[in-house]
Amino acid sequence: MSTAAHSSKKLAGQQSQLVSSKRPIVIAGPCSAESEEQMLQTALGLKKVRGVSVFRAGIWKPRTRPGNFQGVGTIGLEWLRTVKQETGLRTACEVANATQTEQALQQGVDILLIGAHTTVNPFLVQEIADALKGVQVAVLVKNPVNPDLALWLGALERLHISGITDLGAMHRGFSTLDSAPYRNHPKWEHALELRQQVPGLAMYCDASHIAGRRSLLRPVSQRALDLGYDGLMIESHHNPAAALSDAQQQIMPQELHMLLQALKQQHTPGEKLKQNTQMEKLRKEIEHLDDELLTLLSRRTKVTAQLGDYSKPVEKSAETPDPVRWDLVLENLLHQASSAGIDQAFVKTIFQEVRSQYARTHLYNYGLSS
Ligand code: PEP
Ligand code: MN
Repeated sequence: MSTAAHSSKKLAGQQSQLVSSKRPIVIAGPCSAESEEQMLQTALGLKKVRGVSVFRAGIWKPRTRPGNFQGVGTIGLEWLRTVKQETGLRTACEVANATQTEQALQQGVDILLIGAHTTVNPFLVQEIADALKGVQVAVLVKNPVNPDLALWLGALERLHISGITDLGAMHRGFSTLDSAPYRNHPKWEHALELRQQVPGLAMYCDASHIAGRRSLLRPVSQRALDLGYDGLMIESHHNPAAALSDAQQQIMPQELHMLLQALKQQHTPGEKLKQNTQMEKLRKEIEHLDDELLTLLSRRTKVTAQLGDYSKPVEKSAETPDPVRWDLVLENLLHQASSAGIDQAFVKTIFQEVRSQYARTHLYNYGLSS
């Protein structure tokens, strides 16, 4: 989506359902619609939670394995409508194809969510975008399951081309080999990159699907607010233990109330937002550099081990290996440090430590170290 096109459409568009100048918008509700009673009981609890303005429920559930609960289907949309009538909360649900989109629109759903398993598929996204031509509805696009920025951006562009102006992105984390301690790794810098490429795009954080467990909901939500996200989505069920999907990450409405109270919810002004985004990028760069340092250390250890095979020490001495050569090497390193503007004492400490580690290993290999 070109930045210019996005902002001018936004200016011309009607009031956004997705951003509020006062405070972040909170979307809450069960992972899945299970029964009318479950929906109403949860929604009546959520209506009392200050800050919650949108009720969500999954109607059709994309499940990884067959045999898991697949959602109640279209009847759930009627329950969603009842929730809206009874509580005044706006409603949101995920749609994954044109038929589901048309049905959700017919039942007056306010915010459509494109799920992570749909964003990965341009055919499905295009089908939904086509079904939305000429329709005024808010749409939040979740990141694809894999960290592919172009795919996320592409889905937003398809909807934008179809004329959807009230458009936002929802960050739900990424499926990675090692996501611990999260269910889906947040990779914050990836989501922030999207915001940098499309300034003004509403950004939501689906804290529940990033966290995957109750104990991480607070730090994930706080991080999103600190980074200036426009909204949060948190799954809530009146009886999480009995939930048919995502039982381990849902919280009761009263718990959500406490969680929201505990969050520092300042809206981040533009300049601070830029600063935070920049800080996040720099942190990531430091992480990469630390990785590189570790790789270099590991390579150095291997090379010194090979060298050790050729230079058997004659006696137990802290001076092994060759001290004269080492003095010259250190002098050269300190000279380089000084030209690079790095504190010489710091460099000396590091290299002496690295060297004595080598000496210890070397002596140990020859049985000369205790
Ligand atoms: C959900 O919101 O319940 C859901 C299935 O989300 P996702 O598309 O992020 O997996
Ligand atoms: Mn869920």
